[in-house]
Amino acid sequence: SDRVETLEFQAEARQLLQLMVHSIYSNKDVFLRELISNASDALDKLRLESLVDKDLQVDTADLHIELEIDKDARTLTVRDNGIGMSRDEVVGLIGTIAKSGTAELLRTLRESKDAAASQELIGQFGVGFYATFMVADKVTLLTRRAGQSGGTRWESTGEGTYQVEAVDDAPQGTTVTLHLKPADAEDNLHDYTAEWTIREIVKRYSDFIAWPIRMTVDKPGEDGTTTREEQTLNSMKALWARSRDEVDEAEYKEFYRHVARDWADPLETIHMRGEGTFEYEALLFVPSHAPLDLFSPQGHRGVQLYVKRVFIMDDCDALMPNYLRFVKGVVDAHDLSLNISREILQQDRQIRAVRRRLVKKVLATLKDLSAEAYRTFWSEFGPVVKEGLLEDPDNTEALLDLVRAASTHDPAELTTLRDYVERMKDGQTEIYYATGENRATIENSPHLEAFRAKGYEVLILTDPVDEVWVERVGAYDGKTLRSVAKGQVDLETDEEKERAEAERQEYADLLSWMSGALTDSVKEVRLSTRLTTSPACVVGDAHDMTPTLEKMYRAMGQ
Ligand code: ADP
Ligand code: MG
Repeated sequence: SDRVETLEFQAEARQLLQLMVHSIYSNKDVFLRELISNASDALDKLRLESLVDKDLQVDTADLHIELEIDKDARTLTVRDNGIGMSRDEVVGLIGTIAKSGTAELLRTLRESKDAAASQELIGQFGVGFYATFMVADKVTLLTRRAGQSGGTRWESTGEGTYQVEAVDDAPQGTTVTLHLKPADAEDNLHDYTAEWTIREIVKRYSDFIAWPIRMTVDKPGEDGTTTREEQTLNSMKALWARSRDEVDEAEYKEFYRHVARDWADPLETIHMRGEGTFEYEALLFVPSHAPLDLFSPQGHRGVQLYVKRVFIMDDCDALMPNYLRFVKGVVDAHDLSLNISREILQQDRQIRAVRRRLVKKVLATLKDLSAEAYRTFWSEFGPVVKEGLLEDPDNTEALLDLVRAASTHDPAELTTLRDYVERMKDGQTEIYYATGENRATIENSPHLEAFRAKGYEVLILTDPVDEVWVERVGAYDGKTLRSVAKGQVDLETDEEKERAEAERQEYADLLSWMSGALTDSVKEVRLSTRLTTSPACVVGDAHDMTPTLEKMYRAMGQ
């Protein structure tokens, strides 16, 4: 009909679809988790919208997800009576990918020759709705947004274009029908028209979903006949509301994958409960890898907020400081209004108190990670945690305990500040550090020579944020953090000082002549004890900016 339009997928979407059609991901079962997760989100959104917008004429008495198998047609259908999508939303949300990091992901995938690494990467990225094209050669979506009269039909084979059509008779919510590829055991493509396969996948991946997932199944009777019966496949238990010993590891992991939209396992799980005047439950996770959008201003940050089991919002940044933006999970607060806005949350005294408790708990948990887990954690999130030293003065102590730094002590291992202090030589009163772009540059810098000659350990700091936090924090355990590139570093014994004084007098004329000759370029020329093999070096004043910091400010346009 003339109501059918053929549109092209956005370029990035097309490339990602190509990867799906040619199934680079080996665990194909996860397509169902993605569809159920979208349906669950849609039900959450409808419930919330109906609470907030009293004029919205929708029936929310039986919100649910329905699965339907047609063995003859070889189709699997996932239906929800949630919020649905308008025509423009279908085009905007399904035809394009708004996820930040997409371009970067695709570039890395193109360059990667390693299939396992590519799988891992795409798994971390999460492909959402497009995962359906791993198991289907055609996908049909029928949807009508709550409160609107007309619906939209969308169809695609995942190969560059899709069709959209306005339809009059769509039920409210969204129905996704997969036209399944033939099962292929070798390719991990299971028979998704088999009831028990679907039942197992739902149990494994989506048991905690808060809405009923129903399917009409065969039920063998005693007399050998079978009857059809509708069953709810999931237990629907909100994990965070159960006590720790009622939840097993596998359930935590699946829940993590759902809230974090991650395909990997979490590094650590935090399950806590706050009692007293303001009750809440929190189920938080530390991921095992950094998301692609960790440093993107549009990146996801914050946890999900629920009020007494009702989903209120994603990315609730009032509950987690910016520097812990990698923490994922759910906080269910009992005594909040369902209509609460982000702005009000930011001001709310009780929310702030909850946030303080959560931060303390997260920092304490990180401190207690095993050495191996901590290594992973620090290499993924170290630079972000160090932002905390600028943002969160209340927790400076705890954060300094988390810091790991490269050092001249051991080329292979990072050190804690505590261990550095314990190794300090007799008479050493300050903690020395050097900043720069990388270890090699720093190690070759003339600034390090005197320290090396004296056998003093120097921390090697290479993240841009390092210069800022060391300035800000100033000292650890009463010991000044001192840049090797700044001011007079007092490395001399009394005997050496006498010798130096004698030398200064001997060279006084030369030095004043040089200062005069270089007056436009330097503030002062002085004899140095820093250098052992280089003839001269330029140093900054104690209050000057270091070159890296200068570069950083210049890059920020200051
Ligand atoms: P994500 O869920 O990570 O946003 P998806 O690819 O799974 O990515 O889905 C893209 C978007 O399409 C969703 O964010 C949602 O807005 C919309 N969408 C997908 N499925 C549904 C559905 N069943 N009902 C309403 N909207 C949906
Ligand atoms: Mg999704």
